[in-house]
Amino acid sequence: MVKEKYDVIVIGSGPGGEGAAMKAVKSGKKVAMCDYFKNVGGNCTHRGTIPSKALRHATEVLDAKGYTGNIYYPDLLKEAESVINQQMKLRRGFYERNWVDILNGHARFIDEHTIEVTLESGHTEKYEADYFVIATGSRPYHPEDIDFSHPRILDSDTVLDLDKHPRSITIYGAGVIGCEYASIFRGLKTKVNLINSRSRLLTFLDDEIIDALAYHLRENGVLIRHNEEYEKVVPDDEGVTLYLKSNKQIRTEYLFWAQGRTGNSQNMGLEELGIKINYKGSIEVNENHQTAVPHIYAVGDVVGFPSLASASYDQGRFAASHIVTGKSEYHLVEYIPTGIYTLPEISSVGLTERELTEKRIPYEVGRSFFKHLARAQITGHTTGMLKILFHRETLEILGIHCFGYGASEIIHIGQTIMSQKNGGNNLMYFVNTTFNYPTMAEAYRVAALNGLNRVEV
Ligand SMILES: Cc1cc2nc3c(=O)[nH]c(=O)nc-3n(C[C@H](O)[C@H](O)[C@H](O)COP(=O)(O)OP(=O)(O)OC[C@H]3O[C@@H](n4cnc5c(N)ncnc54)[C@H](O)[C@@H]3O)c2cc1C
Repeated sequence: MVKEKYDVIVIGSGPGGEGAAMKAVKSGKKVAMCDYFKNVGGNCTHRGTIPSKALRHATEVLDAKGYTGNIYYPDLLKEAESVINQQMKLRRGFYERNWVDILNGHARFIDEHTIEVTLESGHTEKYEADYFVIATGSRPYHPEDIDFSHPRILDSDTVLDLDKHPRSITIYGAGVIGCEYASIFRGLKTKVNLINSRSRLLTFLDDEIIDALAYHLRENGVLIRHNEEYEKVVPDDEGVTLYLKSNKQIRTEYLFWAQGRTGNSQNMGLEELGIKINYKGSIEVNENHQTAVPHIYAVGDVVGFPSLASASYDQGRFAASHIVTGKSEYHLVEYIPTGIYTLPEISSVGLTERELTEKRIPYEVGRSFFKHLARAQITGHTTGMLKILFHRETLEILGIHCFGYGASEIIHIGQTIMSQKNGGNNLMYFVNTTFNYPTMAEAYRVAALNGLNRVEV
């Protein structure tokens, strides 16, 4: 028997699910949100973005204070826990205030309009809806030959349960998560090996920024090994030995596997409905976020790229908006900004020098180094750079790349100008506007003048 019928059921309480649920309910729909995790917020709040950023902030603060004593990792985890709790309470309030029913359990489709929710007790309940939004996120990819039940082998979920301070750690996978945790653990004075299967770090970034990141990670003591692939991982009571195909052996107290993620699309009865799932567990959707069954939408990490909390929330809102209006009024912005919370922080928007060169676009570069900015000198955050890439004839801004303290905030000033239409996206804005002084935003004026000098010579 069906327990309740809704207009929309959202599966997953991460940013994708929240965006969809709030948009749908505020548009007058009767909405329920189902998550098997009792505390709302999704992996974003409990296992991904929020805990990693809180940990990273704590290590950054300690570093800025020149702290030389022993910092105990489990103590930092407790601090992160307090941010997680604040976020969770806030987000639960959104559902409660807007009368969105919260269903607690694992959701599985039994037909196109019905889900079966398995509660913690094992008891099941059935719910019907006209529309569904799947926002079930992703989880760390686990190769079958590695024993993730071993306490010495961690991933981005289990690292948050570690109750000891690691003296040494090998991070396998030098993507965003691997690089961010390398910064965190180095900040805690842990000996860190970062193993990269490619020849450079984060190849989607501008080359100059990649070089800066590699330089600063090394400078901080992270040992980076490029072009390596694992042969086997052998844990024991005291540590883990990582055997590489290049015949190297790396032994540390812990191994942190940070290579790849898989979409949470399994055991949901999706294939039975004809919904396509690829080898990474990602659900295929069209530009309206509809799956092969048009009244079942999917958003966020479970659809793959860009797999960001920021974009997931927007995708959720866009899907709900399509449900409500039947039209696709909004799409993700063309250039989604990247914020990478390494030490130093990195952020960028738009095209890189490599991409502009490949496209044969005549561009010029304007740079501003933080060490020359009064604000950076006052605050002591002198490591960093802002770089503007612009068309040398039209002065249209094509890309902005930044590293250093506050980079992920600073980037949004440039993003706003880049998004202006009808000639509003122009380097001259930064030359002619009056900035507060001293500010980090002033980096834009300095970089714009620096770039303009190259064009005018
Ligand atoms: C370590 C780390 C750091 C990150 N840092 C950043 C960052 O700095 N900035 C950024 O933008 N992004 C970051 N991300 C990515 C970000 O966390 C994800 O993009 C975001 O969480 C995706 O949101 P989502 O709504 O798709 O799903 P999630 O947040 O993954 O939530 C999915 C929810 O669905 C539930 N669920 C799954 N299957 C079912 C089911 N069958 N039935 C019921 N419930 C189910 C889960 O319990 C979970 O609560 C980071 C990720 C990680 C792992």
